[in-house]
Amino acid sequence: MCRLAVLCLLLITHGRCLADDTHGSGGWQQFERRVRDGEMSLADGRAQISHWAEALEQLYDSERFGRRIFFPLRGHGVPSIGGKNGEGYQPGGYEFLGGNRHKGHPAQDIFIRDRNQDGLDDRTGRPAEVLALADGVVLSVFEEWAPDEAHRHIRGGNYVWIYHPALEIFSYYAHLQDIRVGLGENVRGGSLIAALGRTGTNAYPARSPTHLHFMLLRARDMTPIDAYPLFAASP
Ligand SMILES: [Zn+2]
Repeated sequence: MCRLAVLCLLLITHGRCLADDTHGSGGWQQFERRVRDGEMSLADGRAQISHWAEALEQLYDSERFGRRIFFPLRGHGVPSIGGKNGEGYQPGGYEFLGGNRHKGHPAQDIFIRDRNQDGLDDRTGRPAEVLALADGVVLSVFEEWAPDEAHRHIRGGNYVWIYHPALEIFSYYAHLQDIRVGLGENVRGGSLIAALGRTGTNAYPARSPTHLHFMLLRARDMTPIDAYPLFAASP
């Protein structure tokens, strides 16, 4: 039985399997999108967060995933994080269940040098490479963003969510282009997941410097974690 089918057995809620990606109606990705699009009540959302935390813990053997963390933009490090000493992290008022309309900025923005805003790193003439924070499993991929009426409101643009079983956290990478990983894929820490782009409501317009929006959430309750001290402490 495949892993998703096992998770399916674990997660029958409202008479429907939440984990089965292959049948189109469920999966963590579906949950995340319903939250993003404001289609879930707070009560349902809270119940589902608990379900998912338990189910993912049972599904993925944390012993098989490393704990080592990697900076999520190749060739960059702490100095590329916006603001001083990680002050860009503003978790006040943030609620995962607020979806696309959430408050605060519970994330770090990691900037590349891109003066003409063509999305290419001026130092290399190539797109910057976005890397997985740590060993994990890709649980959501969105790569349909466009600056048109139907899509421009999606703040993250093209984005990826990865679950890290050994760390019990989710990482979220926004404003991507050319996503190189697929749903359900196991990734190694430090491996390529996408090229950095300028997708997303506020990342697309010319006023925005090209950057990766990088967020960590604790799986247990989807509260934010500041990545800055983790990166500042890692060699
Ligand atoms: Zn941001």
